[in-house]
Amino acid sequence: MSHESDSTNSSRRRFFAIAGSAIGAAAIASALPREARAAELPHLTASDPTAQALHYNDDATKVDKAAAPTWKAGEACHNCNFFQGGANDAWGPCQLFPGKSVHRDGWCAGYAKKA
Ligand code: SF4
Repeated sequence: MSHESDSTNSSRRRFFAIAGSAIGAAAIASALPREARAAELPHLTASDPTAQALHYNDDATKVDKAAAPTWKAGEACHNCNFFQGGANDAWGPCQLFPGKSVHRDGWCAGYAKKA
């Protein structure tokens, strides 16, 4: 085929218009407050190597107490200084696990009581 029809050109224009909008939306999303994007972060899992090293569990009551003896009843991500989720967020970013979100009821050995 040596030349393209008008309809091919017009669908190509539509594609670029849509792609342009998607890029625009991504730029807007990256400008949103951190909390607004927290829900999009992948959840940290206990199989993550750093999570394993810090004995993270997304249910603080199920932390391996023998391996992580510093855990105390009542300690959980939502009252940790490193938790950056909102007060009502089930999951939120943690400064110790960049790019991941941790569960508000989780815990790891990096816990520091919120001031
Ligand atoms: S540092 Fe704090 S918020 Fe982050 S995973 Fe550990 S206990 Fe949770």
